[in-house]
Amino acid sequence: MSDLKPPSEPSLDPENWEELRALGHRMLDDTLEHLAEVRSRPVWRPIPDAVRARFRADLPEEPGDLAAAYDEYTHSVVPYAAGNVHPGFMGWVQGGGTAVGMLAEMLAGGLNANLGGRDHMPVEVERQIVQWVRQIFEFPEGASGLFVTGSSLANFIGVLVARTAALGPSVRKAGLDGAKLRAYASAAAHRCIPLAMDMSGMGSDAVRPIPVDADGRMEMVKLAEAVARDRAAGLQPFLVVGTAGTVDTGSIDDLDAIADFCKAEGLRFHIDGAFGALAVLSPQLKPQVKGIERADSIAFDFHKWGQVPYDAGFVLVRDGQLHRDTFASPAAYLRTQAKGLAAGAPWFSDYGPDLSRGFRALKTWFTLKTFGLKRIGRSIEHSCELARHLEARVRAEPKLELLAPARLNIVCFRYRTSDAANAKIVVDLHESGIAAPSTTTVNGKLAIRAAFVNHRTQIRDVDALVDGVLKLGAAAQ
Ligand SMILES: *Cc1c(COP(=O)(O)O)cnc(C)c1O
Repeated sequence: MSDLKPPSEPSLDPENWEELRALGHRMLDDTLEHLAEVRSRPVWRPIPDAVRARFRADLPEEPGDLAAAYDEYTHSVVPYAAGNVHPGFMGWVQGGGTAVGMLAEMLAGGLNANLGGRDHMPVEVERQIVQWVRQIFEFPEGASGLFVTGSSLANFIGVLVARTAALGPSVRKAGLDGAKLRAYASAAAHRCIPLAMDMSGMGSDAVRPIPVDADGRMEMVKLAEAVARDRAAGLQPFLVVGTAGTVDTGSIDDLDAIADFCKAEGLRFHIDGAFGALAVLSPQLKPQVKGIERADSIAFDFHKWGQVPYDAGFVLVRDGQLHRDTFASPAAYLRTQAKGLAAGAPWFSDYGPDLSRGFRALKTWFTLKTFGLKRIGRSIEHSCELARHLEARVRAEPKLELLAPARLNIVCFRYRTSDAANAKIVVDLHESGIAAPSTTTVNGKLAIRAAFVNHRTQIRDVDALVDGVLKLGAAAQ
């Protein structure tokens, strides 16, 4: 018999579940309160140096108190979050999330499911979403889909699948082997498209930026010229990336025309529909994305216009077999079986680079079940109405200049003053906590850019933005 003391319990479960339960209920109540009272707070506030310094702490070697950690979170993290849940948040293109999604995240955390594969119901939930997405975009049976972090990764997967289509699965082993593949996307395409080309070994120069017309749409004549030029030079055009909702101005490429072109030229057609793809959920907006149903693959985010909490990107691929041929990698420790927990082939890990995968499908399933496609479509429509209201207000104010009209949910404008003064107006607006637009450059001018994505934003928030810009602009003169 040893007289050494037994080691402390190795399990990390609480000794006192009752205590944890009480704290857990408080966390839940506080978080719901945070969402319910969102309007009572500023959109964003600068992080005080002392608060930032608290997160340069020493390594926590010894156990600590959960209540104390929660206290630190409440006082140091929550007040200084980015504010994208706030109705005054109009910067970049970010979703607002919902209480329903938050609750689903909590449930998913409890299950701690790994969606890489195997035979369990969480996998069936993701398969359910794949089927729903397939129907939303009118893709055929046999199409495949996968949750990923966001559209950046979803577009990367779209590019890799196109590379397999062009060179066959052998490219995965042999590499490009001298193949000179060329892709084409509008000059207004998101930076993740050249990044995807870079990451796939083709190099970002291998995507040709095609000029856009006055409406921000890829010029089809210029596209045809670029493809012909590359062919004549002995290069191998393989892919056109259409954008449904450019990040700068909300423009939608002529997707039907791109589909026709790709068909005639034998090219793959991928769509970056990060936020714009879900316009199909609004009967009013759907005609604008006509042709989306003809794509070979679509990347989009549930975490933007779908209002699912971060992160919930998705890629849909028409040819599920090609998708699988792009990623499936047999390994002895991942052998599937006909029965038992190792059944359930094909596994999601054969459709993307991730092996371990979280349960993003659950928050999406709860969101779609609870709100239905109609309510989500209506909220998408409403954000476009807000953009039209902002456009009208800008047009009515002599001090303001419209740089890009309301396209979908995005408006770019500026105070009639210098770029530097406009940049300062935006910083001052952020620091005032009234509204949080972002900036971009339109026709060489610095633009104040408002993108309406958050379902909580209302007309009065748009008015607060305009009034704030007018006031700060006048003060800067
Ligand atoms: C947001 C966005 C992306 C990137 O998506 P993430 O989810 O942030 O990775 C790509 N393209 C467009 C048009 C976007 O709006």
